[in-house]
Amino acid sequence: MNYIVLDLEWNQAGDRHNKDFGLPFEILEIGAVKLNRKMKVIDTFDEIIKPQIYHSIHYITTKIINMDKTDFENGRPFSEVMEQFLDWCGRDYVFCIWGTLDLTELQRNMIYYGMDELSKGPLMYFDIQKFFSMTYEDGKLRRSLEWAVDYLHIKKDIPFHRAYSDAYYTAKVFKIIDSYKPEIEKYVSYDVFMIPQNKRQEVHANFRTYSKYISREFPDKNTAIEDKEVSSTKCYLCGRNAKKQMKWFSVNGKNYFCLAICKKHGYLKGKVRMKKADDGNVYVIKTLKLIDEEAAQEIRDKQDKLRLQRLEKRHSKKERTD
Ligand SMILES: [Zn+2]
Repeated sequence: MNYIVLDLEWNQAGDRHNKDFGLPFEILEIGAVKLNRKMKVIDTFDEIIKPQIYHSIHYITTKIINMDKTDFENGRPFSEVMEQFLDWCGRDYVFCIWGTLDLTELQRNMIYYGMDELSKGPLMYFDIQKFFSMTYEDGKLRRSLEWAVDYLHIKKDIPFHRAYSDAYYTAKVFKIIDSYKPEIEKYVSYDVFMIPQNKRQEVHANFRTYSKYISREFPDKNTAIEDKEVSSTKCYLCGRNAKKQMKWFSVNGKNYFCLAICKKHGYLKGKVRMKKADDGNVYVIKTLKLIDEEAAQEIRDKQDKLRLQRLEKRHSKKERTD
Protein backbone atom coordinates (compact mmCIF):
# COMPACT_ATOMS: atom_id res chain seq x y z
CA MET A 1 0.00 0.00 0.00
CA ASN A 2 1.18 3.51 -0.84
CA TYR A 3 0.43 6.82 0.84
CA ILE A 4 -0.95 9.53 -1.42
CA VAL A 5 -0.29 12.82 0.34
CA LEU A 6 -2.68 15.23 -1.34
CA ASP A 7 -3.30 18.96 -1.32
CA LEU A 8 -5.72 21.04 -3.38
CA GLU A 9 -6.09 24.70 -4.14
CA TRP A 10 -9.54 25.98 -5.03
CA ASN A 11 -11.42 29.13 -5.93
CA GLN A 12 -14.89 30.36 -5.09
CA ALA A 13 -17.48 32.89 -6.24
CA GLY A 14 -16.69 36.57 -5.62
CA ASP A 15 -20.27 37.16 -4.45
CA ARG A 16 -23.47 35.24 -3.85
CA HIS A 17 -24.99 36.03 -7.25
CA ASN A 18 -22.20 34.34 -9.07
CA LYS A 19 -22.17 31.31 -6.84
CA ASP A 20 -22.87 27.93 -8.41
CA PHE A 21 -24.43 25.98 -5.56
CA GLY A 22 -23.52 22.72 -7.21
CA LEU A 23 -19.88 23.67 -6.94
CA PRO A 24 -19.09 26.33 -4.33
CA PHE A 25 -15.38 25.52 -4.50
CA GLU A 26 -13.77 24.93 -7.85
CA ILE A 27 -10.50 23.04 -7.69
CA LEU A 28 -7.71 24.78 -9.58
CA GLU A 29 -4.70 22.76 -8.60
CA ILE A 30 -3.88 19.21 -7.50
CA GLY A 31 -0.56 18.47 -5.88
CA ALA A 32 0.47 15.13 -4.41
CA VAL A 33 3.40 13.09 -3.19
CA LYS A 34 3.39 9.31 -3.34
CA LEU A 35 5.18 7.54 -0.51
CA ASN A 36 5.75 3.81 -0.30
CA ARG A 37 5.29 1.74 2.87
CA LYS A 38 8.77 2.76 4.00
CA MET A 39 7.89 6.44 3.62
CA LYS A 40 10.15 6.92 0.64
CA VAL A 41 8.98 9.40 -2.04
CA ILE A 42 8.43 7.36 -5.19
CA ASP A 43 6.60 9.89 -7.34
CA THR A 44 5.06 13.36 -7.41
CA PHE A 45 2.03 14.95 -9.09
CA ASP A 46 1.55 18.64 -9.83
CA GLU A 47 -1.16 19.85 -12.20
CA ILE A 48 -3.04 23.08 -12.81
CA ILE A 49 -6.72 23.07 -13.78
CA LYS A 50 -8.37 25.46 -16.19
CA PRO A 51 -11.32 27.20 -14.49
CA GLN A 52 -14.75 26.45 -15.96
CA ILE A 53 -16.93 28.35 -13.50
CA TYR A 54 -15.16 31.07 -11.55
CA HIS A 55 -12.83 33.03 -13.78
CA SER A 56 -11.64 35.69 -11.41
CA ILE A 57 -9.55 34.67 -8.46
CA HIS A 58 -11.48 35.54 -5.34
CA TYR A 59 -9.59 37.40 -2.63
CA ILE A 60 -10.67 34.97 0.12
CA THR A 61 -8.77 32.29 -1.73
CA THR A 62 -5.62 33.73 -0.26
CA LYS A 63 -3.71 30.54 -0.70
CA ILE A 64 -3.54 30.96 -4.44
CA ILE A 65 -3.48 34.71 -4.67
CA ASN A 66 0.18 34.65 -5.58
CA MET A 67 -0.64 32.91 -8.83
CA ASP A 68 -1.23 34.60 -12.13
CA LYS A 69 -4.61 34.23 -13.80
CA THR A 70 -2.94 33.14 -16.99
CA ASP A 71 -1.34 30.22 -15.15
CA PHE A 72 -4.80 28.74 -14.77
CA GLU A 73 -5.99 29.53 -18.28
CA ASN A 74 -3.13 27.37 -19.51
CA GLY A 75 -4.31 24.48 -17.35
CA ARG A 76 -6.34 21.48 -18.46
CA PRO A 77 -10.00 20.70 -17.60
CA PHE A 78 -10.72 19.11 -14.23
CA SER A 79 -11.97 15.74 -15.52
CA GLU A 80 -8.86 15.27 -17.63
CA VAL A 81 -6.46 16.08 -14.78
CA MET A 82 -8.49 14.03 -12.32
CA GLU A 83 -8.47 10.93 -14.52
CA GLN A 84 -4.73 11.24 -14.88
CA PHE A 85 -4.41 11.70 -11.13
CA LEU A 86 -6.45 8.57 -10.32
CA ASP A 87 -4.31 6.55 -12.75
CA TRP A 88 -1.25 7.95 -11.04
CA CYS A 89 -2.58 6.98 -7.59
CA GLY A 90 -2.70 3.31 -8.57
CA ARG A 91 -4.85 0.70 -6.88
CA ASP A 92 -3.70 0.27 -3.33
CA TYR A 93 -3.34 3.52 -1.42
CA VAL A 94 -4.63 5.67 1.38
CA PHE A 95 -5.10 9.44 1.07
CA CYS A 96 -3.22 11.60 3.57
CA ILE A 97 -4.50 15.14 3.97
CA TRP A 98 -3.70 18.17 6.12
CA GLY A 99 -7.13 18.74 7.69
CA THR A 100 -10.56 17.55 6.75
CA LEU A 101 -11.75 19.51 3.72
CA ASP A 102 -9.93 18.36 0.63
CA LEU A 103 -11.56 14.98 0.04
CA THR A 104 -15.04 16.45 0.33
CA GLU A 105 -14.30 19.12 -2.25
CA LEU A 106 -12.45 16.68 -4.49
CA GLN A 107 -15.47 14.37 -4.55
CA ARG A 108 -17.89 17.26 -5.03
CA ASN A 109 -15.90 18.39 -8.08
CA MET A 110 -15.88 14.83 -9.45
CA ILE A 111 -19.65 14.43 -9.10
CA TYR A 112 -20.22 17.90 -10.61
CA TYR A 113 -18.35 16.85 -13.74
CA GLY A 114 -20.19 13.52 -13.92
CA MET A 115 -17.28 11.32 -12.93
CA ASP A 116 -17.73 8.07 -11.00
CA GLU A 117 -17.64 8.39 -7.23
CA LEU A 118 -14.34 7.73 -5.45
CA SER A 119 -15.98 5.36 -3.00
CA LYS A 120 -19.28 3.86 -2.01
CA GLY A 121 -19.94 5.29 1.41
CA PRO A 122 -17.46 7.16 3.63
CA LEU A 123 -13.86 7.37 2.48
CA MET A 124 -11.16 6.40 4.96
CA TYR A 125 -8.09 8.65 5.06
CA PHE A 126 -5.32 9.90 7.34
CA ASP A 127 -5.67 13.44 8.65
CA ILE A 128 -2.06 14.47 9.20
CA GLN A 129 -3.11 17.66 11.00
CA LYS A 130 -4.92 15.46 13.54
CA PHE A 131 -1.95 13.07 13.72
CA PHE A 132 0.32 16.01 14.49
CA SER A 133 -1.93 17.16 17.31
CA MET A 134 -2.25 13.63 18.73
CA THR A 135 1.51 13.16 18.63
CA TYR A 136 2.80 16.51 19.89
CA GLU A 137 -0.19 18.24 21.47
CA ASP A 138 -3.54 17.44 23.09
CA GLY A 139 -5.17 15.82 20.08
CA LYS A 140 -7.75 18.58 19.78
CA LEU A 141 -5.76 21.66 18.81
CA ARG A 142 -5.32 22.20 15.08
CA ARG A 143 -2.19 23.96 13.81
CA SER A 144 -1.33 25.34 10.41
CA LEU A 145 0.97 23.30 8.24
CA GLU A 146 3.67 25.93 8.46
CA TRP A 147 3.45 25.87 12.27
CA ALA A 148 4.09 22.12 12.24
CA VAL A 149 6.95 22.50 9.78
CA ASP A 150 8.60 25.04 12.11
CA TYR A 151 7.95 22.89 15.16
CA LEU A 152 9.67 19.90 13.57
CA HIS A 153 12.56 22.00 12.19
CA ILE A 154 11.84 20.98 8.64
CA LYS A 155 13.79 22.99 6.11
CA LYS A 156 11.57 25.44 4.23
CA ASP A 157 13.13 25.09 0.82
CA ILE A 158 10.05 25.88 -1.31
CA PRO A 159 7.29 28.49 -0.77
CA PHE A 160 4.04 27.42 0.93
CA HIS A 161 0.45 27.61 -0.34
CA ARG A 162 0.65 25.90 -3.62
CA ALA A 163 -0.92 22.46 -3.89
CA TYR A 164 2.33 20.68 -4.58
CA SER A 165 4.38 22.47 -1.94
CA ASP A 166 1.77 21.89 0.76
CA ALA A 167 1.61 18.19 -0.15
CA TYR A 168 5.42 18.12 -0.06
CA TYR A 169 5.55 19.58 3.48
CA THR A 170 2.63 17.45 4.68
CA ALA A 171 4.53 14.36 3.51
CA LYS A 172 7.61 15.51 5.46
CA VAL A 173 5.60 16.06 8.63
CA PHE A 174 3.86 12.70 8.22
CA LYS A 175 7.16 10.91 7.73
CA ILE A 176 8.54 12.26 11.01
CA ILE A 177 5.35 11.45 12.95
CA ASP A 178 5.14 7.96 11.50
CA SER A 179 8.72 7.04 12.31
CA TYR A 180 8.25 8.30 15.87
CA LYS A 181 4.79 6.83 16.45
CA PRO A 182 3.76 4.30 13.77
CA GLU A 183 0.68 3.23 15.74
CA ILE A 184 -0.79 6.66 14.87
CA GLU A 185 -2.06 5.05 11.66
CA LYS A 186 -4.79 3.34 13.67
CA TYR A 187 -6.50 6.70 14.12
CA VAL A 188 -8.04 6.91 10.70
CA SER A 189 -10.58 9.55 9.68
CA TYR A 190 -13.61 9.24 7.43
CA ASP A 191 -14.77 11.71 4.83
CA VAL A 192 -18.57 11.53 4.76
CA PHE A 193 -19.24 13.26 1.44
CA MET A 194 -20.72 9.90 0.41
CA ILE A 195 -23.15 9.05 3.21
CA PRO A 196 -23.77 5.31 3.74
CA GLN A 197 -26.82 4.28 1.73
CA ASN A 198 -27.30 0.92 3.40
CA LYS A 199 -26.10 -1.09 6.39
CA ARG A 200 -23.21 -2.55 4.44
CA GLN A 201 -21.73 0.91 3.81
CA GLU A 202 -21.99 1.98 7.43
CA VAL A 203 -18.76 2.54 9.37
CA HIS A 204 -17.97 0.77 12.62
CA ALA A 205 -14.52 1.81 13.80
CA ASN A 206 -12.89 0.81 17.06
CA PHE A 207 -10.04 3.09 18.19
CA ARG A 208 -9.42 1.33 21.52
CA THR A 209 -10.03 4.51 23.50
CA TYR A 210 -13.36 5.15 21.77
CA SER A 211 -15.52 3.79 19.02
CA LYS A 212 -17.19 5.51 16.11
CA TYR A 213 -20.24 4.61 14.08
CA ILE A 214 -21.43 6.38 10.92
CA SER A 215 -24.98 5.40 10.07
CA ARG A 216 -27.01 5.17 6.89
CA GLU A 217 -29.68 7.84 6.27
CA PHE A 218 -32.98 8.13 8.12
CA PRO A 219 -36.02 10.26 7.26
CA ASP A 220 -35.82 12.23 10.53
CA LYS A 221 -34.09 12.54 13.92
CA ASN A 222 -36.65 10.53 15.88
CA THR A 223 -36.48 7.58 13.54
CA ALA A 224 -32.70 7.77 13.74
CA ILE A 225 -32.40 7.83 17.52
CA GLU A 226 -34.93 5.01 17.85
CA ASP A 227 -33.01 2.76 15.49
CA LYS A 228 -31.57 -0.28 17.23
CA GLU A 229 -28.04 0.20 15.97
CA VAL A 230 -27.98 3.97 16.57
CA SER A 231 -29.24 3.68 20.14
CA SER A 232 -27.15 0.65 21.09
CA THR A 233 -24.37 1.14 23.65
CA LYS A 234 -22.09 -1.79 23.09
CA CYS A 235 -18.79 -1.65 24.97
CA TYR A 236 -15.98 -1.41 22.42
CA LEU A 237 -13.49 -3.22 24.65
CA CYS A 238 -15.43 -6.41 25.38
CA GLY A 239 -18.28 -6.25 22.86
CA ARG A 240 -20.92 -6.69 25.57
CA ASN A 241 -24.06 -4.59 25.66
CA ALA A 242 -23.54 -1.92 28.30
CA LYS A 243 -26.76 -1.32 30.19
CA LYS A 244 -28.22 2.16 29.62
CA GLN A 245 -28.64 4.27 32.73
CA MET A 246 -30.96 6.64 30.91
CA LYS A 247 -32.65 7.13 27.58
CA TRP A 248 -30.80 9.11 24.93
CA PHE A 249 -31.58 12.78 25.49
CA SER A 250 -30.90 15.88 23.44
CA VAL A 251 -29.76 19.26 24.64
CA ASN A 252 -30.15 21.26 21.45
CA GLY A 253 -31.81 18.86 19.05
CA LYS A 254 -28.48 18.25 17.38
CA ASN A 255 -26.44 16.31 19.91
CA TYR A 256 -27.82 13.42 21.92
CA PHE A 257 -26.21 11.94 25.02
CA CYS A 258 -26.52 8.73 26.98
CA LEU A 259 -24.85 7.04 29.92
CA ALA A 260 -24.41 3.26 30.10
CA ILE A 261 -22.46 0.84 32.27
CA CYS A 262 -20.39 -2.08 31.10
CA LYS A 263 -20.16 -4.66 33.89
CA LYS A 264 -16.50 -5.16 33.22
CA HIS A 265 -15.26 -1.72 32.08
CA GLY A 266 -17.46 0.81 33.84
CA TYR A 267 -19.15 3.95 32.54
CA LEU A 268 -19.66 4.48 28.86
CA LYS A 269 -20.60 7.87 27.46
CA GLY A 270 -22.60 7.88 24.28
CA LYS A 271 -22.80 10.88 21.99
CA VAL A 272 -24.81 11.06 18.80
CA ARG A 273 -24.40 13.96 16.41
CA MET A 274 -27.30 14.41 13.97
CA LYS A 275 -26.08 15.36 10.53
CA LYS A 276 -28.14 16.63 7.63
CA ALA A 277 -27.80 15.12 4.21
CA ASP A 278 -28.34 17.27 1.11
CA ASP A 279 -31.63 15.48 0.41
CA GLY A 280 -33.08 16.51 3.81
CA ASN A 281 -32.53 13.11 5.40
CA VAL A 282 -30.37 12.73 8.50
CA TYR A 283 -27.55 10.40 9.39
CA VAL A 284 -25.69 10.08 12.66
CA ILE A 285 -22.15 9.97 13.89
CA LYS A 286 -22.06 8.14 17.19
CA THR A 287 -19.08 7.91 19.51
CA LEU A 288 -18.83 5.76 22.61
CA LYS A 289 -16.13 6.42 25.16
CA LEU A 290 -15.29 4.90 28.55
CA ILE A 291 -15.33 7.60 31.23
CA ASP A 292 -14.85 7.94 34.99
CA GLU A 293 -17.43 8.59 37.71
CA GLU A 294 -16.94 12.35 37.56
CA ALA A 295 -17.67 12.52 33.85
CA ALA A 296 -20.65 10.22 34.37
CA GLN A 297 -22.01 12.64 36.93
CA GLU A 298 -21.68 15.47 34.42
CA ILE A 299 -24.01 13.63 32.07
CA ARG A 300 -26.54 13.06 34.86
CA ASP A 301 -26.32 16.75 35.79
CA LYS A 302 -26.83 17.76 32.20
CA GLN A 303 -29.97 15.65 32.05
CA ASP A 304 -31.26 16.96 35.38
CA LYS A 305 -30.75 20.55 34.32
CA LEU A 306 -32.65 19.92 31.12
CA ARG A 307 -35.54 18.30 32.99
CA LEU A 308 -35.72 21.26 35.34
CA GLN A 309 -35.74 23.73 32.47
CA ARG A 310 -38.58 21.87 30.80
CA LEU A 311 -40.51 21.73 34.03
CA GLU A 312 -40.10 25.47 34.59
CA LYS A 313 -41.17 26.19 31.06
CA ARG A 314 -44.29 24.09 31.44
CA HIS A 315 -45.03 25.72 34.78
CA SER A 316 -44.75 29.28 33.51
CA LYS A 317 -46.90 28.40 30.52
CA LYS A 318 -49.54 27.05 32.86
CA GLU A 319 -49.42 30.19 35.00
CA ARG A 320 -49.97 32.31 31.97
CA THR A 321 -53.00 30.35 30.88
CA ASP A 322 -54.53 30.13 34.37
ZN1 LIG B 1 -16.71 -3.79 28.42
